[in-house]
Amino acid sequence: MSGLVSIVGAGPGDPGLLTLRAADRLRRCDCVVYDHLASPRLLALTPAGCEQIYAGKEAGNHALPQEALNALLAQKAKEGKRVVRLKGGDPYVFGRGGEEALYLKGAGVPFEVVPGVTSAVAGPCCAGIPITHRGLATSFHVYTTASRTGEDPVDWAAAARQEGTLVFLMGLSRLENTCRKLLENGLSPDTPAAVVSRATTPLQRTVRAPLGELAAAVRAAELPPPAITVVGQVASLGGALDCFEERPLFRRTVVTTRQKTHGFDLSAALEEAGARVERLDAIRIRPCPGEDLQRAFARLGEYSYLIFTSQNAVRIFLEELRRSGRDLRALAGPCLCAVGPATAAALAREGLAADLTPPRHTSTGLWEVLEGRLGPGDRVLYPRAKAVRGKLGEWLPTRCPTDQVVLYETLEDARDLGDALIALWGGEADYLTFTSPSAVESTLRALGPDFARCLAGTKIVSIGPVTSGCLRAHGLEPALESGRCTAEEMAQLIVEDSRA
Ligand code: SAH
Repeated sequence: MSGLVSIVGAGPGDPGLLTLRAADRLRRCDCVVYDHLASPRLLALTPAGCEQIYAGKEAGNHALPQEALNALLAQKAKEGKRVVRLKGGDPYVFGRGGEEALYLKGAGVPFEVVPGVTSAVAGPCCAGIPITHRGLATSFHVYTTASRTGEDPVDWAAAARQEGTLVFLMGLSRLENTCRKLLENGLSPDTPAAVVSRATTPLQRTVRAPLGELAAAVRAAELPPPAITVVGQVASLGGALDCFEERPLFRRTVVTTRQKTHGFDLSAALEEAGARVERLDAIRIRPCPGEDLQRAFARLGEYSYLIFTSQNAVRIFLEELRRSGRDLRALAGPCLCAVGPATAAALAREGLAADLTPPRHTSTGLWEVLEGRLGPGDRVLYPRAKAVRGKLGEWLPTRCPTDQVVLYETLEDARDLGDALIALWGGEADYLTFTSPSAVESTLRALGPDFARCLAGTKIVSIGPVTSGCLRAHGLEPALESGRCTAEEMAQLIVEDSRA
């Protein structure tokens, strides 16, 4: 395979606004060169071993000069690598993407450009401002007030004459000048306007004011960059159409710890409600299939039951099955058991329907069903984690021959916890959620001996009495506890509490 540079638009900040094609390129690249505007969550899409190079680009802080960066892209591609050049927003909107593409073209390096959602349009949108609107604006005009030569790049007289919406990028430090020029060139001080900072992210803030008062209002609010300025009649709609900053958990920070999902993604639900969510998951899954798995594969036809008690077991088992040269037909014989709906869903994703899911979604619940079914003529295969809770592995062999093979182990690993730990240590977290006692234990270990002090201003949310008991044993009192023991209810409790 010859090398390729994909110049990829990362979108305006919210990782959910990445395009499918951009995600595909990130998942398949050998090297990614990224700007400060690209969300770290996007880098998490790159495969293990992918080289990550920071190119900077904050005002006045360029980690890599443009010429060196161009040469780097070309060199990596010539080594045969798939390179992603990840740029904030759309690569061709004030991003120097065109210069990079021209350089690659000149150097004979294969390249492609993946468009992105630009902050020029998404920023106003998430502030409730339609960039065009019948009767208010039939065009929009995007400007930068920054220039390399120091000369003012904007024809202010022409800008002030436009009928449509004016959008200014890269101009927060020159906002006074922008407003003054527009007023001097004839715009009314009453013209509706807004500045949107960190648009589309959980840290978004919007200041709305008439043009004549905008600069002072933005200074008073101390809005941080990056920010865009919107000027025009459409900005008057902002207050009425805001559905982004009005979400119930907007401006709240929640740290979630390792989740037993049961098919419900607590972090995603909290994010949808507007929260900034930092995930603290000190557990890493390490597959460790051995010879006994190969032996089990060789006798798959002999099993009458195949038992899965986790999604990880399903995933790793099927990966290994395929790696051994087999496919789903090898699983035609045995009754497929899934401990609960999440495990059954993992089977469904692999194209397999679970034959049996117990009414109680625990390994004991599964045993209660199997106990009456298994006889000496059966043979069970139970691929599982190295350490399992529950006694299923002890009970099964009392009924029939049982092969238990270890597929994976769970390791504690605090490497990628940076943002979540910083939020907790810095007292930024409004809520901290726990869905199991083991999550309590591993989180408190990650926080260190001073955990009680750093959690003083944070409300602890527990999934139920067992987890709460574990918290109390460590001297921590949960502020909220789900009566129904579900993650869904935890999300509801947090929303209600934050409204109170
Ligand atoms: N190619 C980018 C723009 C790069 S220029 C795009 O299409 O969005 C950088 C400028 O974009 C910043 O100075 C700021 O004006 C704007 N910008 C980028 N992301 C932003 C965000 N999340 N919120 C507000 N402005 C943003």
